[in-house]
Amino acid sequence: MHTSLTCAACGLDHAVDQLQNLCTACGKPLLAGYDLAALRETFTPDAVRRRATRSMWRFADVLPVDDVSEAVSLGEGQTPLLRLERRGAFAEFENLFVKDEAFNPTGSFKARGMAAAVTRAVALGAKVVALPSAGNAAGAATYYANRAGIECFLFMPEDTPPANIIESVVGGANVFLVNGLISDCGKLVKQGCEQFGWFDLSTLKEPFRIEGKKTMGYELAFDMADAAQATQLQLPDVIFYPTGGGTGLIGMWKAFDEMQQLGWIGPERPRMVVVQAENCAPVVRAFEQGADHAEMFANASTVASGLRVPAAVGDFIMLRVLRESNGTALTISDAELLDGVREFATQQGIYACPEGGAVWKAAQQLLKTGWLKPDEKIVLFNTGSGLKYNHLFPVGGLPVLDHTDPDCLDCVVG
Ligand SMILES: *Cc1c(COP(=O)(O)O)cnc(C)c1O
Repeated sequence: MHTSLTCAACGLDHAVDQLQNLCTACGKPLLAGYDLAALRETFTPDAVRRRATRSMWRFADVLPVDDVSEAVSLGEGQTPLLRLERRGAFAEFENLFVKDEAFNPTGSFKARGMAAAVTRAVALGAKVVALPSAGNAAGAATYYANRAGIECFLFMPEDTPPANIIESVVGGANVFLVNGLISDCGKLVKQGCEQFGWFDLSTLKEPFRIEGKKTMGYELAFDMADAAQATQLQLPDVIFYPTGGGTGLIGMWKAFDEMQQLGWIGPERPRMVVVQAENCAPVVRAFEQGADHAEMFANASTVASGLRVPAAVGDFIMLRVLRESNGTALTISDAELLDGVREFATQQGIYACPEGGAVWKAAQQLLKTGWLKPDEKIVLFNTGSGLKYNHLFPVGGLPVLDHTDPDCLDCVVG
């Protein structure tokens, strides 16, 4: 259980035992802190390895619960780290891995964040949660709210992928489509929260989605050790992250800090790479300009709905992480990222989401420029399942065989 809740910008402390959104003084995100010195004795890598919990809650000591039994869980986390086969374009990389988050409940890593946020919200008495979503957060919120037995209101741009809308409607959430952007949906949520007393689950406007997503950083250290058949925890040289709100990126960076304070790892850090879509790249643009904050990206559009975030509350933290890690930031066009999905599918047997396709294409680019070395240990995040994006690959013109025609297989070969 966390012992503090502190503003990431001005450092003001907030009460840990009441529902909180942004900093009450400056409106920036709040981050949970733990008494890591006290945890060092019992919360060790070996202790974690011995635990029977097969979910992200094996790291419960650094999550917002006193005990795992309080978690609102659908089995999120503990996703596979897969070594990629050296085939096709992937052959140039000697140590390329994918952390495959498609294995999560509701098919994306949004499950990790929602599990933590809903767990804490219900513990503090929330009965109704609300959020804007243009993608996978909607389904995750719907199903974790159902698991907890509370109500969920969703505000989604009209052009949100059908799979995200359908799973939320089937799950019984109160779904409203909005003729605007995610930021317009966010304003309606804010208004609704003030008017009706809902609790706002917007990413980084709520302190615990990041805590859930940080478990990716903890898991990675164990996964990399396992891949090297070592007991000492390890981190990769480079992490590629498809960045929207940046919750996972900021979360993993926080996890590495915590792990160092726990004595689990040294001061070395992976180089963090932010990957965004060509037509929605506020963080890449700010990084290239050397800015501390990102400007709103006008007319943002991309088929990778997880990357369609024109302005992020955590922009300044992401930019800080990029610089501290000696990382970089780059964009991928929609056509390229869809090619990436096809390459993952046909050459690796992984039906990745377009965001996953984007990080793969980004790695290829940075190998070409020499920023990456072929033997570096590189982890790509596939943040969700391709099944949520079937609408991007319309299939037509397939032959229909007349099974009553004895010669119908003639067309199969030439
Ligand atoms: C939400 C989402 C992202 C972006 O995640 P952040 O941590 O908010 O940057 C990337 N990929 C997918 C599939 C998503 O649903």
